[in-house]
Amino acid sequence: MEDLRELYQEVILDHNRNPKNFKKLENASHTSEGYNPLCGDRINLYLQIEDDRIKDISFVGSGCAISKASSSVMTGELKGKSLAEAKELFKKFQGIITGKTEADLTGLDKLSVFAGVREFPVRVKCAALAWHTMLEAIENGTEAISTE
Ligand code: ZN
Repeated sequence: MEDLRELYQEVILDHNRNPKNFKKLENASHTSEGYNPLCGDRINLYLQIEDDRIKDISFVGSGCAISKASSSVMTGELKGKSLAEAKELFKKFQGIITGKTEADLTGLDKLSVFAGVREFPVRVKCAALAWHTMLEAIENGTEAISTE
């Protein structure tokens, strides 16, 4: 678990400094806004979906390092995935951050890194915000959501 903790901090700091896909997508077909009132995290998510596949995805937002790093990792993971695959990953991620699924420590994949938030229940919402917003964008398009 020590390795994971170090990696967790490294990944979060790195993505917070240099978030991936941090821009507004001009030709987005689906957008959604997410807000986490417990921490003040806000995220606007942009998706370009064609033939049930995420061709492009980006976000802008302000908030804590965890919410930003999670958005950055998520957009990187979801680009090119089908909507069904995106929903599967959402379930996997939720399992990892709530402790219902064991993090895959052997692979140390990017999603497993967020298992570190388990110890901080308030932070679980920060990590999950981008994913809830993504699901909302896929299912409802332009609704604003809150994690509350
Ligand atoms: Zn936060």
